[in-house]
Amino acid sequence: MGEVEQIKKAKSISQLEKLKAQAGPREANLFYSLCENGQNTIDKTQFKQALFDAGLSSLDYRLKSLFEKLEKHGDQINFEEFMSFTRTGGLLAEKALRGELAVPDFRDFSRNLDKIYDEVLPNRSGDLARYIPPLAEVDPEQFGIAVVTTDGQIYQRGDTNVDFSIQSMCKPFNYSFAIENLGLEKVNRHVGVEPSGRQFDDLTLMVKGMGGSSLSPNNKVPFNPMVNAGAIMTTGLINPRDTTNDRLQYIREQFGRIIGWNKEETSGVNLPRFNKTMARQENFKGYNNIATGFLLMATGNIPYSESLLPDDIHEDSQYEYDFYVEPAVTNALKVYFSICSLEMTGKDVAMAAATLANGGVCPITQDRVMSQKTVRNVLPVVQTAGMYNSSGQFFQEIGLPSKSGVGGGILLIVPQLMGICIFSPRLDLVGNSVRGIEVARKITKKYLVHAFDGTMTDTDRIDPKLPIARWRANSCGEAIWAASNGDVRTLERLVSQQRDLEAGDYDIRTPLHLASAEGQLEVVKFLLGQGVKPIPDRWGGYPISDARNNNHQEIIDEFNKLNIEYTEPVHIVEEPEGITDEMVTFDNELMVIELLFAAAENDVNGLRQLVAKGVPVHAGDYDSRTALHLAAAEGSLQAVKYLVSHGHPLNVRDRWGATPLDEAKREKREEVIDFLSQ
Ligand code: GLN
Repeated sequence: MGEVEQIKKAKSISQLEKLKAQAGPREANLFYSLCENGQNTIDKTQFKQALFDAGLSSLDYRLKSLFEKLEKHGDQINFEEFMSFTRTGGLLAEKALRGELAVPDFRDFSRNLDKIYDEVLPNRSGDLARYIPPLAEVDPEQFGIAVVTTDGQIYQRGDTNVDFSIQSMCKPFNYSFAIENLGLEKVNRHVGVEPSGRQFDDLTLMVKGMGGSSLSPNNKVPFNPMVNAGAIMTTGLINPRDTTNDRLQYIREQFGRIIGWNKEETSGVNLPRFNKTMARQENFKGYNNIATGFLLMATGNIPYSESLLPDDIHEDSQYEYDFYVEPAVTNALKVYFSICSLEMTGKDVAMAAATLANGGVCPITQDRVMSQKTVRNVLPVVQTAGMYNSSGQFFQEIGLPSKSGVGGGILLIVPQLMGICIFSPRLDLVGNSVRGIEVARKITKKYLVHAFDGTMTDTDRIDPKLPIARWRANSCGEAIWAASNGDVRTLERLVSQQRDLEAGDYDIRTPLHLASAEGQLEVVKFLLGQGVKPIPDRWGGYPISDARNNNHQEIIDEFNKLNIEYTEPVHIVEEPEGITDEMVTFDNELMVIELLFAAAENDVNGLRQLVAKGVPVHAGDYDSRTALHLAAAEGSLQAVKYLVSHGHPLNVRDRWGATPLDEAKREKREEVIDFLSQ
């Protein structure tokens, strides 16, 4: 028996119906989406692979027991077993299979990041921070990109498991810990929230409040918590009455919680490492920071005990006295140097950024480390001041709250979506990682993640919150369906949104084609009035051919008014009188377009997710094209196999009478022809 026959025999849509009767449609669709090659069970390796493709890992704390159970289980999983497995994984496994995690198309996302990594790798410009030996001695070639989404999907490439000094990347977190402990109002009395426009180690302080006077020293505060003065200040505010040892331990544990460490130490994440040598060097060479600390002391803003002047222990000496330094300032500096000298991996930092993106809850442990309100108060300051004196330019260009450190790390927060860390130690003149900035640039160029991207429609940049096929469907589907249905109102709205009404689908069919085929004269006039040009479709057919085929004379006349030479389309239809299978209509029209895009691009993951969501594989579009037509025409063999094994009928006919096999023949897709003609 040939492969197709075998598949067709064992499998049909009725199998799905049986499953649905056995459980709910939700579980049934989910299981069915993973069934391959006509079996009533699913393959364990494939199940695992689907989870990995979604950005989940077997090391994931949340999936520990699911993977343990899977390890002990045989190769095949039946329906009941599958339901118990997904229950073990909580909603997580289910959401992953249905493409409902923060970044639904994690494979495509990872592939694009891989590309960005490869493009940026050759960039060796910039230089290491050289002010202390432990920073000057790191390997300058290191380069890693890590991303953690708010659902805990993880991408890692390059050096993302090596420890490096977090340096200034600690600043947003110090600020948030201070706010958590004291409340925003109190913290605001000690540090401003204004971009400084100055170097990070500048000694200038800001006169607080409108109309404040520079004559009263207590009116002066650091510009913001992202410059050194502000960070020393916020550090000084965290548990000032405890010993420096206890303070550092406390802060280190807070950082730990942010990156997924838990007290019980079951999550597999360690506390950030403390590099004492680094801290001592920071202290040894930290004159500027020390000066800053004393300046802050002079303004009276670092909490201190206001103790009485200690007794003179040199009472007997005429000149000798004990030089007094208020310990509050040295302690604040000591803790600040220590925090800068904490070490994390790129993956840890991405997790920390993801915790901020996730409103203060660590995506993996679900530990609420800080309140949503704190996050909401911290991010604007990171956004406007996080990248030193290039913060404004960075905001305009990248549009994401970001913080860099002289250790070579840079973290970016995409609120409600993900945390990103890029690590590469060579810095530019301002002190930002050169490769880090370049990666950030490329990410915003590729993806709609800039804070103000919501105000623009851009069909070239990808929305990472959507499956890639859905994103493509969005760029054209609505307009084409509207044109096909004579819905001028919708088209007007799309015009006002600056949407491209010339954009075609997987067959380069455009709104003009469908309006012409369906005799929608008003739509044709409207589109031509908007300056939309008729373009040829996959078969070389212009909209005028659609009008001719369907005898819409007035539309033909409209096109004849234009000075364009129209070619005739080439449609090949064999055995037009043979059997015809039914396709189905599905009321979520955009999902149908999504399905066909996924099929065209051989995106089996996308197909699987749509089947898991209950989309019938044999749904047809406005031209009666089905997923199998598209997979066949594009030579997408995996997609063809997936569709057939999920009950897609073979003899469906499109608007022109062509079956998927006709399409494969016309486009000379040999493998598909072989497979379909078995
Ligand atoms: N430890 C460094 C300092 O205080 C941190 C500076 C930075 O990363 N920009 O100077």
